[in-house]
Amino acid sequence: MYSIPLSRPHISSLEHQYVHDVLASSRLALGPRLEQFEQLMAAQCQVRHAVAVNSGTAALHLALLGLGLGTSDEVITTPFSFVASTNVLLYENIRFRFVDVDPTTYNLAPDAVARAVSGSTKAVLAVDIFGLPVDWPGMREVSAAHDLFLIDDACHALGATIQDRPIGGWADVSCFGFYPNKQITTGEGGCLTTDSDALAALCRSLRNQGRATDGRMEHVYLGYNYRMNELEAALGCAQMERLEELQALRARVASWYHEALHPLQDDIILPVVPAAAARSWFVYVIRLNDHFSADARDLLMKRLQQRGIGCAPYFPSIHLQPYYRQRFGFRPGDFPVCEKISARTLALPFFSSMAQEDVHTVAAALREALVDLPQEAPAFAVNGSEASSS
Ligand SMILES: *Cc1c(COP(=O)(O)O)cnc(C)c1O
Repeated sequence: MYSIPLSRPHISSLEHQYVHDVLASSRLALGPRLEQFEQLMAAQCQVRHAVAVNSGTAALHLALLGLGLGTSDEVITTPFSFVASTNVLLYENIRFRFVDVDPTTYNLAPDAVARAVSGSTKAVLAVDIFGLPVDWPGMREVSAAHDLFLIDDACHALGATIQDRPIGGWADVSCFGFYPNKQITTGEGGCLTTDSDALAALCRSLRNQGRATDGRMEHVYLGYNYRMNELEAALGCAQMERLEELQALRARVASWYHEALHPLQDDIILPVVPAAAARSWFVYVIRLNDHFSADARDLLMKRLQQRGIGCAPYFPSIHLQPYYRQRFGFRPGDFPVCEKISARTLALPFFSSMAQEDVHTVAAALREALVDLPQEAPAFAVNGSEASSS
């Protein structure tokens, strides 16, 4: 165990009370808390419908089914994400096309997506990476021009906004995850949000074995058990009631980091703070500058971990994961921007209850760990002094 962990949920007495009340009620599934949680999510995202499920992955899977995407369709997506955002496409044998990400935002850019659209492209599945919103207004122009569905993997971005409009309402369907490291947690859990009555009704049925929504024991579709239980939903209600508080705490931790790491900017690139959109802080990911060698990040991680500081490589490129290489033949060099970011980024400890003192401890450890970190050989050394002196 690290003395400063990578992440930690923030559970107050409210969460204890709500979960306890469910246990005392003996209504443990498909009860009032599920509906309340969905109402809170729909209100937060300013959409007509929220459908809660038992993971972010399940939300993404249902989003694809809800849009009717299948094997003859192609979906454009990002290789710089948690593997779930691409795995769900494989569940349905949907063809996918990776598009390389923007080197400063690490997100898919609308113009790059537009260039990759083909005759069989039916949708774009973009990820608001690390809580930084995708350029959804731009993405909507691309989708209107090419008649595409938009799917937002918003698992990092609950509470983020663009032009004061929350993430969760920009795409045809948006998906959230509530694993304990996310802005809010339900233990395990997820939710999709949409303005489409038909899509919401279909997904509501699919999460419950394809059962007719009027409660009859009639199964209209091939469905799944993707239900969120009452304990999870109660936990989620308490966390949603505290969303503003949790977001403010995270933003404060991020500002402490910014301040503490500002002097290290010759060596590291800090997260982007956007002007046009409001980021929701999910993780605090720094990137080593180009003058360090390719193995520097892993050594830096080891040094930090030895000092009791939790950290992780966020994220390895999806196309270079063993399963994807083997099945699809991807190789290093296929998506160079993504690969470069993957090789140089590092998530530092980041959670709502993190103290300023902890941030300073991490910053001090980082400053020490950067000393003598292997550098790329400078260009002039390649020629060598013997050659130039002769
Ligand atoms: C967390 C996450 C998910 C969902 O993960 P679950 O563990 O299934 O809740 C999906 N996409 C991204 C990018 C994530 O970070």
